[in-house]
Amino acid sequence: MTEQPQDNSAIADAVRSMLEAIGEDPGREGLADTPDRVARMYEELFAGLRDDPASYLEVGFSEEYDEMVVLRDIPFHSMCEHHLLPFMGKTHVAYLPRGKVCGLSKLARVVEAYARRPQLQERLTQEIAHLLMDRLDAKGVGVIIEATHTCMTIRGVKKPGAVMVTSCMLGLFRSNSATRAEAMDLLTGGGVK
Ligand SMILES: [Zn+2]
Repeated sequence: MTEQPQDNSAIADAVRSMLEAIGEDPGREGLADTPDRVARMYEELFAGLRDDPASYLEVGFSEEYDEMVVLRDIPFHSMCEHHLLPFMGKTHVAYLPRGKVCGLSKLARVVEAYARRPQLQERLTQEIAHLLMDRLDAKGVGVIIEATHTCMTIRGVKKPGAVMVTSCMLGLFRSNSATRAEAMDLLTGGGVK
């Protein structure tokens, strides 16, 4: 996490240079406001760099509940750090509490804080899982992310519709095959195996 505010004028300058470099005229009417517009958009897309995901899990509440908690279909969008093109999809999160649970909206905030930065789907999946495991002191955590990458659909191999699935299983979700099977079932709605 960085405390530094985003430097919007540096981004606008860079976008102007980029437009020139591809052979465009950054001064023409349609492009005149583009550099500033992109800078403001980046503030939103990269807001996670100034957000501490752990802060959303500071206030967990104690609960006797010791069954699996599952939140499916948390929508997210992120920026692929290899191409700075968006990838988006759904995150499914499950955890087995050890006396501490958190509000469901907090899980969504954690996903968003990690997603809104230059990312890789694999790392996003692991970061979410490890933070939950750590901060909730859970017995197990499972995270599955299904996403489409525009860097795959509009360039290179051009495979529109291809969905990339990543998963990270920790604790009992990794070591106990029955718990893992139950988690996978709940996380995917019986879909992906
Ligand atoms: Zn990419």
